Amino acid sequence: MGDDFIVETKNLTKEFKGFVAVSDVNLRVRRHTIHALIGPNGAGKTTCFNLITKFLQPSRGQILLNGRDITKTEPAAIARLGMVRSFQISAVFGHLTALENVRVALQRKQGNSMHFWQSDRSLDSLNERAEQLLADVGMLEYRDTAAGELSYGRKRALEIATTLALEPEMLLLDEPMAGMGSEDVARTAQLIRRVSASRTVLMVEHNLSVVADLSDTITVLKLGKVLAEGPYGEISQNPEVIEAYMGH
Ligand code: ADP
Repeated sequence: MGDDFIVETKNLTKEFKGFVAVSDVNLRVRRHTIHALIGPNGAGKTTCFNLITKFLQPSRGQILLNGRDITKTEPAAIARLGMVRSFQISAVFGHLTALENVRVALQRKQGNSMHFWQSDRSLDSLNERAEQLLADVGMLEYRDTAAGELSYGRKRALEIATTLALEPEMLLLDEPMAGMGSEDVARTAQLIRRVSASRTVLMVEHNLSVVADLSDTITVLKLGKVLAEGPYGEISQNPEVIEAYMGH
């Protein structure tokens, strides 16, 4: 039935003016797992991500989300279908507090803005929900701190809280640990693990020890093709993977 897989790609291919960046990729992301895409620079990871989230239109192939063909779906509709990509830091409003940032995301999810006739009670419940989301990402103590003043790692945690406000079934994280110090990396790893208990996470990540530690399944890409797929213990023994990716 394929019910086990939240996302499947079938012969997913992207050409840029004749250059094949992603070539016949068949990816299957199992529900409620952490799945990592790794590979050397230029392997096609970002392009794959952009295809799956519909930022890019594939040249060939198919993308299924919960068994439904989304190959031709508009990017704006993807979040409504339960798949949300972590936004870059720039999506966090620096002059708003952490709490306000999450509240904005919650209001966006509700599809309304702050109306003057909104009752105190609905505002209270919005604040409660926002606080809960901040607590979920370990950020409650920063609720009144302007996002612009947060450390890099904490901004990323806040960013994850704002994406969780959209109640996604699946979260796509683009290099969640990039630019982080070891303390932030450890905290973010913990957060991703917590988030994945009730959701599916697909991430591109360069930090191999993080990938090894967190991922249930790893897909190794090389020159646009899938070189290997499996748990870390398996792919790390694969001679082709060692040569292509880890052998230096
Ligand atoms: P990765 O994320 O694994 O480093 P990318 O998906 O960014 O790899 O890129 C894969 C290949 O596709 C690279 O050779 C890159 O130069 C090429 N590429 C990516 N985007 C474009 C584009 N818009 N136009 C032309 N070539 C591109």
